[in-house]
Amino acid sequence: MLPPLTFDTRHALINGTWSPTEDTLPLFNPSTGETIGSIARCGTAEVDRAVAAAHMARQTDWGRMTATERGRILARIGQLVLSEVDLLTQLEALDVGKPLTQARNDAIALARYCEFYGGAADKIMGETIPYLDGYTVYTLREPHGVTGHIVPWNYPMQIIGRSVGAALAMGNACVLKPAEDACLTALAFAELATRAGLPDGALNVVPGLGTEAGAALAGHPDVQHISFTGSVTTGAAVQMAAAANVVPVTLELGGKSPQVVFDDADLDAALPFLVNAGLQNAGQTCSASSRILVQEAIAPEVMDRMAKAYRAKRVAPAIEDADIGPLISQIQKARVETFLARGADLPILAQGQLAADLPTAGTYVRPTLYGPVAPDHSLAKEEIFGPVQVIIPFADEAEAIKIANGTDYGLVASVWTRDGARQMRLAKALHAGQVFVNNYGAGGGVELPFGGLGKSGHGREKGFEALYGFSSLKTVAAFHG
Ligand code: NAD
Repeated sequence: MLPPLTFDTRHALINGTWSPTEDTLPLFNPSTGETIGSIARCGTAEVDRAVAAAHMARQTDWGRMTATERGRILARIGQLVLSEVDLLTQLEALDVGKPLTQARNDAIALARYCEFYGGAADKIMGETIPYLDGYTVYTLREPHGVTGHIVPWNYPMQIIGRSVGAALAMGNACVLKPAEDACLTALAFAELATRAGLPDGALNVVPGLGTEAGAALAGHPDVQHISFTGSVTTGAAVQMAAAANVVPVTLELGGKSPQVVFDDADLDAALPFLVNAGLQNAGQTCSASSRILVQEAIAPEVMDRMAKAYRAKRVAPAIEDADIGPLISQIQKARVETFLARGADLPILAQGQLAADLPTAGTYVRPTLYGPVAPDHSLAKEEIFGPVQVIIPFADEAEAIKIANGTDYGLVASVWTRDGARQMRLAKALHAGQVFVNNYGAGGGVELPFGGLGKSGHGREKGFEALYGFSSLKTVAAFHG
């Protein structure tokens, strides 16, 4: 039995040492709106030290370790994460307002990322290339060096798992900047990683504001790769900061992901995905399915059935483990309410129920389903990041594709139809980094390469693809006559 975790929420982890910062930031519980503590407020000085520590780790124990040993450490981290699932669940529910079951799924996914990347660490190989007479040519996959990880508040554990997990597997040393609204599980993860034997400096955690610690990391001249997940505006700023140092960036920026339902679809199978892929984590999911495109003949039935499901959804504090918890913050609540005000001209099909006696300072909104909605309405085009979905009827396949591809985003899409040829056509035609056929995977799928097109970003994380992203290819051409 492990002793309980001992990390202090006000500390940063740099070079294996936990230490407080001069200033702190408040730690909120979104379910109650109460301030429950404080977190570290790192700035340029802490980020500089973290980057230097990461470089030192690369040059010493961590950099010299074999891929197999790195994999073993990741596997051990995964085991420790599994042994602390209950604690991680509690921390995430408290910090993010995530209903317990959803928080628990994230903790299990974090363990799964560590297992997957632990197993993959020694299976990434180069190749030999036939070349001119007298030459032997081969390629080496090498870590970038120090990688920066700027993580949002919506799925801290999953995003840390997929980016830090893959970066460590390739032998990079990481500097992790969690979101100021949600950093507790990042700190817990770092403590577990240390216990699993990860050498000092291989993972440093610098909580703080985006404009301070985040900006310092994004523009740091000694960082060799940045992985960013968050908003389009911040992603563009991060890319510009990294461009000054000609540093590659992976951007995962959200979407307006459609599910396209044809009149031959198995509606019983589709219904839970249509609703839950929009409402999971109160809609604060980059791959949330916020647009439901339905063929006209079945639109009345789909609207009816989704409305019924919405009316049964209950919103309550995270600890009650209802369908939906609070939004992350008052700022996010105000953003979503702006969209709801813009939807005043739209027909509301149904809303979920707020539990009685909700804490008045909690950041709750009622899940809202609109339909039918014209495809050019702003609620049908812009990312809301809240528990809001629109139903958009379409006439035929050509119109469905046009509407589905008619936003600036391209993250995830799905098609529901029994027609095999149509499945194949849509899979090719849909503008998205992932297309699901007769299912939908919001946020899931450790093994499945994930990332966007257009304003959803670029680069791929998850699966083996992430290992290529967190490494670079060197070609060695040896002349031996
Ligand atoms: P954000 O993009 O501002 O923050 C994401 C991360 O970037 C946080 O860690 C933040 O501290 C950091 N950051 C902020 N400014 C930075 C800067 N100048 N340089 C470097 N790092 C910086 O997101 P937000 O303000 O928390 O949320 C705003 C909107 O972003 C949401 O409404 C939603 O639409 C979108 N969002 C998307 C995702 C996603 O998974 N795609 C996640 C969270 C938020």
